Amino acid sequence: MNIHEYQAKALLRSYGAPVSKGHVVTKAEEAKAIAADIDGPIWVVKAQIHAGGRGKGHFIEEEAGEKGGVRLTKSVGEAAEEAKKMLGRTLVTHQTGPAGKQVGRVYIEEGAGIDRELYLALLVDRQTSRVAFVCSTEGGMDIEEVAAKTPDRILSFSVDPVTGYQGYHGRRIAFALGLTGNQIKQCVRLMGQLYKLFTEKDCELLEINPLIVTDQGDLRCLDAKMSFDSNALYRQEDILALRDETEEDPKELQASKYDLNYIALDGEIGCMVNGAGLAMATMDIIKLYGAEPANFLDVGGGATKEKVTEAFKIITSDPNVKGILVNIFGGIMRCDVIAEGVVAAVKEVGLKVPLVVRLEGTNVEKGKAIINGSGLDVIAADDLSDAAQKIVKAVKG
Ligand code: GDP
Ligand code: MN
Repeated sequence: MNIHEYQAKALLRSYGAPVSKGHVVTKAEEAKAIAADIDGPIWVVKAQIHAGGRGKGHFIEEEAGEKGGVRLTKSVGEAAEEAKKMLGRTLVTHQTGPAGKQVGRVYIEEGAGIDRELYLALLVDRQTSRVAFVCSTEGGMDIEEVAAKTPDRILSFSVDPVTGYQGYHGRRIAFALGLTGNQIKQCVRLMGQLYKLFTEKDCELLEINPLIVTDQGDLRCLDAKMSFDSNALYRQEDILALRDETEEDPKELQASKYDLNYIALDGEIGCMVNGAGLAMATMDIIKLYGAEPANFLDVGGGATKEKVTEAFKIITSDPNVKGILVNIFGGIMRCDVIAEGVVAAVKEVGLKVPLVVRLEGTNVEKGKAIINGSGLDVIAADDLSDAAQKIVKAVKG
């Protein structure tokens, strides 16, 4: 789960990390009063969306001369005006895709004077199964580009969970970032605060880009991106309360309400599968035969007819779906339950695209009988390979 920059900064502040003073604006009429509570001489106005690259992004409805989703303004009035203009508009960045994201919240922050822009992140390193620090002197820009072109400018190391964060970790980062004097002390303290936050709140990623050295010579977190392990949210009530459902894919949101493991993708073939491994294999084989999956969906082991119906509805609500492949290997999941769910869903929402069904395993004959007796226009398949070829053929013509 992702949160907004202003929420991440409030969390950082609560752990003692240095951030600028700022307030969030959600209603245009409140912009002026909110901006007036912040001191200048620079007021930074920042669109809050769950995507990076806002500074270099553009609004779809942008007027000539306007610039991006991060703006430096010189008065309370100007800040309020910029905030009002951003609200309700659609911001496109290299991370949002061409459709962009609508801005419902704007953050107004006291501007910082910048001496240097650095990069810092904490993440879960899957290879070592540990929390890792990543830092670079090349802050403010795309870290992916730095990694590709000048990988020697990135330092990364992981922390032993038994000993946890130690001062030498912070000093190692400070020296790699070229910090001096009091900045080294600030860095050691800040890295400890970030590590504590990361582990206590079950973070997946905590990225500060840029971490700056101010013109006063102090460290400050100028941007913040945080995401959390969704499987840990049951024990992170305060984090769960920060969830902004308007930022999520409506299909994924619906799926999460029914406890379905669903991830929207860009392809044309909708998949309904039981078991994560079979779902992955199904996606692979669709690609092998020349098409792309529109989603990953694992309906799980003990899915009910209602859950299957909901899953089918979510798949058909995606306008990119040009065909559907139901691939069930009935073990705990029974084929007749899947068949009932599919038939019920089609009766409710109709079927406008080809549907290939491959059933195998527990109650397979019962399942097939339900599908065959339903009068639905279903293409039956015998095995995974046969099913994939049939749906790709049906879609590609
Ligand atoms: P992003 O584009 O979504 O990553 O948004 P950031 O918060 O990283 O802001 C983009 C850029 O705007 C930063 O790299 C800075 O160069 C600039 N910026 C943001 N806040 C301030 C500020 O308080 N003062 C100054 N001078 N520049 C800022
Ligand atoms: Mn940034």
